[in-house]
Amino acid sequence: MVETNVEEKVKSASIFSEVAEMGHEQVVFCHDEPTGLKAIIGIHNTVLGPALGGTRMWNYASEEEAVIDVLRLSRGMTYKAAISGLNLGGGKAVIIGDASKLKNEAFMRRFGKFVNSLNGKYITAEDVNMKTSDMEYIGMETKHVTGLPKDMGGSGDPSPVTAYGVYMGMKAAVNKKFGSDDLSGKKISVQGVGQVGMYLVDHLVKDGAKVYITDINEEKLRNISSKTGAEVVGMDDIYDLDVDVYAPCALGATLNDDSISRLKCQVVAGAANNQLQDEVRHGNMLMDKGIVYAPDFVINAGGIINISSELRGEYNKQQAYSWTEKIYDTCMSILNKSEKERIPSQESAMLLAEKRISDIGKVKLSF
Ligand code: NAD
Repeated sequence: MVETNVEEKVKSASIFSEVAEMGHEQVVFCHDEPTGLKAIIGIHNTVLGPALGGTRMWNYASEEEAVIDVLRLSRGMTYKAAISGLNLGGGKAVIIGDASKLKNEAFMRRFGKFVNSLNGKYITAEDVNMKTSDMEYIGMETKHVTGLPKDMGGSGDPSPVTAYGVYMGMKAAVNKKFGSDDLSGKKISVQGVGQVGMYLVDHLVKDGAKVYITDINEEKLRNISSKTGAEVVGMDDIYDLDVDVYAPCALGATLNDDSISRLKCQVVAGAANNQLQDEVRHGNMLMDKGIVYAPDFVINAGGIINISSELRGEYNKQQAYSWTEKIYDTCMSILNKSEKERIPSQESAMLLAEKRISDIGKVKLSF
């Protein structure tokens, strides 16, 4: 889940120095002997509001790996919420261990109690290896849980809203590069046709784009291809395709030395988290190649925007979609700043997010 060099870094440094470097407010280690629960809750920044972020369960190779995962993920949530104009901070929780062996009602409820002990400073949601039933158990012990299924009174699957936001961000980036956001006739490759990728393909095909898809799951590929007319390509061939736009919607770190040297596209805009293997180096490489990069945490924020609508009271789908539509303008101002200041778009987005946190932090100082 994390790069080895980062794990080595944590091993060689103290947790406190890592926390100080990344700017976290609080890291909570949760342990319960009877259930075997070991979890870490990372609260990165609560200047804008309570720290929101999902809980993921993973069989980490080491505790250091779990620590670094929660630190990076919670920091990422701070930037995503801030750039999206939400009054939420960044948090994330990781549970250590094999989900298929450890999870049961008591285990999940014990975790819910730990979340509750933070009195709303951290709000949890579903992430990797967490099921609806797990969220239901957590919800028995705390009200600080969100993104629940519709039949539990929540906002349901965020993927269609995330896909809509990615589509908006892609249109903005295409406008920046080609002077028009019309996708008809554009050649677009989508890597990963899972929950988000498949909805994204629908938008693109509807707009008249020529879409290429790849996935490890051949059945999904066949279904989506026969439904939409998208052309199936090999998993590795995706980087060499002569396309206008590449949309990474599967894994992180697909923008690296190897892939960037192969890419022929003019725009990168997709849903996957942490697409740049190295934020600085690969952000610069894309810029030097003249490729417009729509920062992942900006354009994949539809899911958290959807959840924030649930947090404001009764979930309102229309409100969630119209807020998500703003990703177009946000992405455009980031790309304009990037061009004007000759800095990579990732850096431009991070600077804008930090400015909002700093500005609103000052507003909050007055009565
Ligand atoms: P998903 O698991 O439903 O889909 C991922 C797809 O990628 C799967 O179909 C999988 O088979 C495929 N895949 C895996 N490895 C691959 C590879 N090497 N090459 C090609 N395809 C591969 O996940 P999702 O919910 O669609 O999310 C996609 C990405 O977007 C993830 O990185 C996720 O973190 C991010 N994201 C999702 C949401 C959301 O609302 N679901 C929100 C924000 C960010």
